[in-house]
Amino acid sequence: MTATVQFPLHTAVREFLSGPHGLLIGGEWVPAASGRTFPTYDPATGEKITDVAHGEAEDVDRAVAAARKAFEEGPWARMKPNERERLIWRVGDLLSERAEIFGQLEALDNGKSAMIAQVVDTEWAADVFRYYAGWATKIEGSTVNVSMPFVPDGQFHAYTLREPVGVCGQIIPWNFPLLMASWKIAPALAAGNTVVLKPAEQTPLTALLLGQLFEEAGFPPGVVNVVTGFGDAGAAIAAHDGVDKVAFTGSTEVGKKIVDAAKGNLKKVSLELGGKSPNVVFADADFDIAVPGSVNAWLFNHGQCCVAGTRLFVEDKIFDEFTQAVAEAAAQVKIGPGLDPATQLGPMVSQEQFDRVSRYLSEGLADGARALTGGKPWGERGYFIEPTVFVDVRPEFSIVREEIFGPVVAALPFNAEQGVEAAANNSEYGLAAGVWTRDVSKAHRTAKALKAGSVWVNQYNGFDTAMPFGGYKQSGWGRELGAAALDLYTQTKAVNIAL
Ligand code: NAD
Repeated sequence: MTATVQFPLHTAVREFLSGPHGLLIGGEWVPAASGRTFPTYDPATGEKITDVAHGEAEDVDRAVAAARKAFEEGPWARMKPNERERLIWRVGDLLSERAEIFGQLEALDNGKSAMIAQVVDTEWAADVFRYYAGWATKIEGSTVNVSMPFVPDGQFHAYTLREPVGVCGQIIPWNFPLLMASWKIAPALAAGNTVVLKPAEQTPLTALLLGQLFEEAGFPPGVVNVVTGFGDAGAAIAAHDGVDKVAFTGSTEVGKKIVDAAKGNLKKVSLELGGKSPNVVFADADFDIAVPGSVNAWLFNHGQCCVAGTRLFVEDKIFDEFTQAVAEAAAQVKIGPGLDPATQLGPMVSQEQFDRVSRYLSEGLADGARALTGGKPWGERGYFIEPTVFVDVRPEFSIVREEIFGPVVAALPFNAEQGVEAAANNSEYGLAAGVWTRDVSKAHRTAKALKAGSVWVNQYNGFDTAMPFGGYKQSGWGRELGAAALDLYTQTKAVNIAL
């Protein structure tokens, strides 16, 4: 753990790391049924951080049974909305109080900057808990004016109830470990569900620390369960007959497997999958804002963002000047371990992800793309890749078509007369898009024409907890965040009473 020697860790992080890291099942921290553990690594050095319990199907069974018991019998099932609100809010406050601790732990496990992990990942996760705490008391049905034409003399009182779905399996990725846990858990709890969360095997640590907060906040046992493990544990959740709903964030490939696995009991499925998002810069854009904004679009979180604006469409009149400026700005970014306060760009999360991104760099160069900057790994150890801006690319290149999930952007010129929408929409994905222009009509027209779940104008990554988020096409099913997430975690009952 060289990083910890070079950059001292908070006492609470050291204490957490020294303890055993069991599964959270029914309010107890328990070892995996098999007794097995697996290591998690610091991607800045490739060295082991600690071991965590290796949960498998049998552990998923135990966690689902605990979540079922808490849903059907426990105090949770009878708890009033305002009591749920207070508990969920408390988790938000605890996260804010410990943002530095969560930030450091996330930086160590994932590789991202500790400062970003503190002020973006953790504080936003806290905001998500507080936002959905507020919703707990505001989930309402409606009264319905029924006519019942085949009962001409009848009088009725009809209304709807919005009820929790039940036991929710939630499978999350490694790019925003704590934040993705909050996006999933908070709305599920606000609606009165219980949860079995499976963090990604690359980044299990902050979900375990979050698990401790539910205990501390006073949640009844079994309401939130955390099973650390690999894809087989995720598959066991997706296929489990005791799970009523599965929510997944990750690759489109695994998303399709989740859909297949969920067929057994036709559990509800929501998916937040991959992307290859277009970022469109018109010649009339404010150059000084569009350049750093477009760098942020593909480089934030080291390019390991499902929304990363990795197809940079620039109007031909400014193409050379703009891409050069983007490359120069990207080349200035300070690369290093997430625990170094100076770091802006950390390592890829794992050896596997490093190999994958390196493969795309080689493929791009072999196809004939030219790197204005970057194009290769960085440093002597750890999983670092230089920020890379490719030009001279064609739409059929793999670096233009496929999600790389690394600090790599492909820039393509467009002619405003011919339009950019068709090229921008030429993707199996449809998660997000950016538009940069000073012309408000052009901004609205382009935003409407882009087939994406989120469109950001004169900014990128313009997320807010209150705004719905999700994908068109193969980027997903359903919408998380905002009031929309409550649709994923409630079901409507229609009650009709003859008076
Ligand atoms: P992944 O989809 O393989 O893993 C995401 C989660 O799903 C992890 O918790 C994993 O353990 C679990 N999982 C794996 N196989 C499963 C299965 N058969 N059933 C149920 N759960 C399963 O993603 P990855 O391997 O971590 O990354 C691969 C690629 O996925 C990335 O390069 C990137 O393109 C994409 N990705 C997208 C997002 C996103 O936010 N959309 C996040 C991470 C990765």
